[in-house]
Parts: sequence; C-alpha cells; structure tokens
Amino acid sequence: MKRTTLLTLILAAIVMFGCQKPKAVVIIPEPVEISPKGGQFTIDEKTMLCFDNLGAESSETSKMIRELYESYFGMRPNLGDAESAKKHSILFSISKKEIKDIGDEGYVLQVKPNRIVAEANTTAGLFYAMQTLMQMAGTDKLADSKTFAVPCGTITDYPRFGYRGAHLDVSRHFFDTAFVKKYIDMLAFFKINKFHWHLTDDHGWRIQIDQYPELTRVGAWRPERSSWDTLHPVLPDEPMTYGGFYTKDQIRDIVRYAAARHIDIIPEIEIPGHCSAILAAYPQFACDDYPYTVAVGPYWPPKAIMCAGNDGVLTFYKNVLNEVAELFPYPLIHIGGDEAFNDNWQVCPKCQQRIQDKGLKNEFELQQWLMNQIEHHLDSLGKKAIIWDDIVSEDMVNTSTIMCWQGLDVAKTAAKHGNDVIMCPTTHCYYNYYQYKGDDEPLCMEGYVSLGKAYSFDPMPEGLSDAQAKHILGGQCNLWTEFVNDPDMAEYMIMPRLFALSECVWSPKEKKDPQKFATKVDFTRNLMKKLGYKPSDRTVMEP
Ligand SMILES: [Zn+2]
Repeated sequence: MKRTTLLTLILAAIVMFGCQKPKAVVIIPEPVEISPKGGQFTIDEKTMLCFDNLGAESSETSKMIRELYESYFGMRPNLGDAESAKKHSILFSISKKEIKDIGDEGYVLQVKPNRIVAEANTTAGLFYAMQTLMQMAGTDKLADSKTFAVPCGTITDYPRFGYRGAHLDVSRHFFDTAFVKKYIDMLAFFKINKFHWHLTDDHGWRIQIDQYPELTRVGAWRPERSSWDTLHPVLPDEPMTYGGFYTKDQIRDIVRYAAARHIDIIPEIEIPGHCSAILAAYPQFACDDYPYTVAVGPYWPPKAIMCAGNDGVLTFYKNVLNEVAELFPYPLIHIGGDEAFNDNWQVCPKCQQRIQDKGLKNEFELQQWLMNQIEHHLDSLGKKAIIWDDIVSEDMVNTSTIMCWQGLDVAKTAAKHGNDVIMCPTTHCYYNYYQYKGDDEPLCMEGYVSLGKAYSFDPMPEGLSDAQAKHILGGQCNLWTEFVNDPDMAEYMIMPRLFALSECVWSPKEKKDPQKFATKVDFTRNLMKKLGYKPSDRTVMEP
C-alpha cells in the first residue's frame, strides 16, 4: 500500500469516528475542572426533573430551577423525586455527605447518556449547576431546536472569590424595575452573586424614604435634555420631567427576585458628597445657601457636600439608613464617601467648629470622623459599611470594607490596615469607559477598557502576606450611567466585558487563558442575544 493511500485511510477513519470525540462546550466563567466523555444526554419532553434532599429551601429552589428550565428549554418538565430519577432524568440534590473542596457555592455536575446528576452542599451550588447546564445546551438553544443535547462528562466547579459583583448607577439615568430584573438575570447567568445598586447621586435620588418625602418628590426629577450640557444649568421654568424612583414595595420585590437567584443586593447611599439631589430637596443640610438643583449634565456641581458640622445632617443620614437597613437583608450597606470635595467645609463655621471640637487635623479627618459616626450607627443596626477608597489612610479610624476604584496601592494600604477590600479599579473594571476605539462608537465616558483589558483583571494585588490577602473579598465591575441613557446602551456597555469579569472572579487563576476565552466570546454573545440582550459586537482582546 502506498504511503499516501494509508494516510487517506487514516484520515477517513478519523472523519468517520471523529463523532466519538466529545463535543467541546462553551461555559463562561470557565469551570475549575471539566472531564469530558463521549456521548450525550438529550433534554426532551420525556425528561424528568427531579429534586432530592433540598432541606428547608426545598420549594424555593425547586421552583427557581423549574422556572429556569421552562423559560430556557421552552417545555414543562415532568417532575419527580430521587426514586423517579432512575429514569431519563436530571436530578438536583444536596449531597448527604459534604462534598469536599467545593465550599458553599460549588457543585458537581455529572452528565451520562441516560441521566444528569447535579450535586452540591447548598442550594446556591445547585443554582449554579443549572446555569452551567443551560450553557452546555447552548448549541441547540442557538439552533432553536426542540431538544437539547448536553455532552457527557463531569464538571467540578467552585468560585475563586466569595464576592463577585456588578454595579449599576440608576441615578445618572433611571432604569425601571423590569430592566433591573433583566440585569439581575444576566448577572446570575454568569454566577455573579452581588448587585451593587447605586441609588443616590447628584442626578437623582431613587429610593422611597418615608420620613423624607421631598427626596423623591423633588430629588428624583430633573429637566429632560436631548444632550447633556454642562454649561447650561437648570432654568427656573424648566419642567422636571426626567427621573423616577423605586417604591419600598418595588424594592422588596427586587430583593426577593435577586435572593431567589442567589444574589445579594448592596444599596448605596452616598455620604457626604454627590448630594445635589438631597440639597435640592432639603437645602438646610448644605454649608452655604447656594440654590442647589438636581444635577443635569454628565458632571456635577463639585461643591455640593452635606454640612458635617450640622447635627441635623447626622440625624438625617441615620434616619435614612434605618429605613434602608430594613429593606435590604444583606449585612453590607454602601455609604459612598468618594469625591467629597470639601471646599465648603473649609469656609463653613459649623464644619470648622466640629474639627476643633473633635480635635481633628483637617477636613480629610472630618470626613473620616463623619463616616465613622455612620459606621457606628450601622453597627447598632447589625449592619456593616462599605466605603469607597477615598477615605483610606494609614492611620484611619474606619473599619469598613473598602471598595477600591483608585488602584492597587490604595487596596494594599487598606488590606494592611486590616480592612476588607473589594476591587474595582478604573483601569480594568469601569465599563462606562470605551470598549472600542472607533469613530462610530456611541459617546462614552472618557477612558478605555477593552475586553482584553477587562480579562486581564486580577482582584488579588501582588505583594500581600497571606493574612492580608484574606482581606481581599473579590471584585466587581461598575457601570456608571452618565452616557448610558437606556437599557440597550447598558447591555451594550456591560457585555461582553461582564463575561471577562465573571472569569476573573470565579475561575481559578491558572485556568485563565485569554486565547481560549476569545474563542468562547462569540458563542456566549450569541446566546445572550438569543435570550433577548444586546451585547456589543466589538471584541478587542488587545489590552
Ligand atoms: Zn458645613
């Protein structure tokens, strides 16, 4: 036999038997371990969906998984228990013996030709197993198939960080509850477990507070402008037609919705800057008598700051936080603290008196003191504060969790000081910046974070001791909405960069692979389009 004929035969054999090779699956974030096997399980109308040993959360968990199953696969499953799971079935089960190494968010997903078994130590793990299963069936989802092939094999998976967050600014532009829920669904799909809800800022106050009704009657509204013009402040006769806010009932509903998807909500109430909307409603809390309005334009009146020498301001914040704490069960509440420009404090007699009375060195220490008062109040409510890293100094009194936007050095200082840290540096995590350098790119905040740059984010700063590294809780992306006018633009800005973030906070560091990630982006982007989202098509893997 000629050598070329032999080669042809070998090639033909590879082609013929190639189908035995396990089909590659695209999962984002990349799981810890995938062991593929030949064959596949087919989800069809005969498939049983079974639950076992779910404990106290039994009905909520099975309801959530069933809802996901119905909406994603477009069919109602036949329901069963552990006994019926012997048939062609998908079984979700809390393991009777603790599964080692996967913690309380991990899972083990075994796919065999006749059976799928998802096991975890907790219901959160089972929820993530379901998300993975949905992605594994993505090829048929994209093909609008009536049945869904899931390649056989075993996946063992658990997150690298406990804090995996995404932020949404609803002050600069308002987003209704339907979109907030859609946003939460998107986060759940990528195993993000914290939603940082930026509810108050210069451009609008967005949360009902019973004791201060003017916050939403006045502070939630501003003139509608077709383009934002910093040189054109609010005119006395301009109608206040743009805005909105969430009622307490809407917030409770969103909190429940997120909890069912294993997402904690961290509300943010900005203290003491970014407060034009408060001062428009309650001008008595300012240091001066400037006629504050809710801000219009992409930037803000930088002098707007609450008077730290006014006891009424402290009472106001405490009363507001009492109502906020009641609405949000998660123990962490974000109290802002960024970009508090203290020009007014420097000339305000009350603020200067406070500095003197408390033996503080300067206005920076006055802010640390003010935040510390609020921290104590949150302690009394059984809550803990998150504060932006602007207050970090080596001798700070604050014990809060620090959210680091300014970079690694500040994060290191905070961790060395013993504060917990959440990383979201502008360099990698600000998804309000451009993701593409093209003339036809919609207007964004000045700055550039390509998909590749987002992917190169490592929440763990180098050079920390093991004890200090334990203070790094994880990371998040931030979507400020100065130039994000509506839901379509929000989805365009956050995806596909959210795909990158999810691998940065979930996947083991050694599993991160930019080349492999780049090959997965198109598939997952198409899947998100199929699910009704509008991600950007502009993929730039160069940082
Ligand atoms: Zn003052």
